[in-house]
Amino acid sequence: MRYVNNPPNPYQKYSAEFLGEPPSAKLEIYEEFTTKKIITKAYSSDFGYRYTVNCYRGCIHACTYCFARQYHEYLGYSAGTDFETKIVVKPNAPILLREELKKTREKMKTLDFSFATDPYLPLEASYELTRKCLQVCLDFQIPVAIITKSPLITRDLDILTKLKNLFVFFSIPFPTTEKSNPFEPFTPIPGARFRAMKTLTDAGIKCGIGIAPIILGYNDSDIPVLLEKARNAGATKAFINFIHFDTDSIENYFVEKLYEKIPTKAEKILNQQKRERNGNLRHKNFAERNQGKTEKWEIVVKLFELHFKRLGFEKFEKTPKPEEKPLPVQQKLF
Ligand code: SF4
Repeated sequence: MRYVNNPPNPYQKYSAEFLGEPPSAKLEIYEEFTTKKIITKAYSSDFGYRYTVNCYRGCIHACTYCFARQYHEYLGYSAGTDFETKIVVKPNAPILLREELKKTREKMKTLDFSFATDPYLPLEASYELTRKCLQVCLDFQIPVAIITKSPLITRDLDILTKLKNLFVFFSIPFPTTEKSNPFEPFTPIPGARFRAMKTLTDAGIKCGIGIAPIILGYNDSDIPVLLEKARNAGATKAFINFIHFDTDSIENYFVEKLYEKIPTKAEKILNQQKRERNGNLRHKNFAERNQGKTEKWEIVVKLFELHFKRLGFEKFEKTPKPEEKPLPVQQKLF
């Protein structure tokens, strides 16, 4: 049973507080037919331009650290239980994707399925929107990357095996259900994710593991075992990211859930993250977002690199930064 727990939305004038016990949070599904565009283009200094497709908004998996929670606030909802229970479905996503790909002149290195939600959240079992969009990508021969925590992806093996340059990342930051539960209450268990990874790699699909987020003092020592399990399941790429909170509402929700789930360890865990950010949980700028700054973090990175090399993972190709065009010069009239 989950109770409504919504940090105030910074874009709304008013927020609700409950006197006494809040009501239980019920799953609500909204079908949105007014969506005009399905490909989102965004720039990040790490990856250059990214093109993403999200057929859903909100995520039933409810990871307490999820950075996508903030996107629910743009819809007028909250980054708390609203994000986990008020799910927006875009039933016309495959039609829109086909239309956009017909018209676009963008050169997409890959089309990424992820970033605002998990493309294989449980609703996908009946809506099949990710599946239909993948079929569109296959028709247009578009390279695809997918990030997921769900073994439901194995349902689409027939399409995935035909896709050009497909890469699938499984997000698995914790090795056991016990360790995953406090932070990933409604996700498929880590063992199921590793089994799905093995099914995909056995079918010839390239896979990797995202050990993200790293929560110092909680899962940093699990890096070797996670890399080993991923390698045994056929993964060839791996990355780590330090935990980050992009908004106050995500930070508040995470802290509250941490005290609720593991009260005896909460303070110690929070203090370790704060040491990396001058006493705060929030990072100051984008450069600090995915990494720590103390020796402790350096040791974590070295531990990752050591086992990455030992197990023979492949390095990432650096994304070339887009060329900076010179600013137009004002011409003289005379
Ligand atoms: S599965 Fe991904 S999108 Fe869903 S809540 Fe977890 S981190 Fe967020």
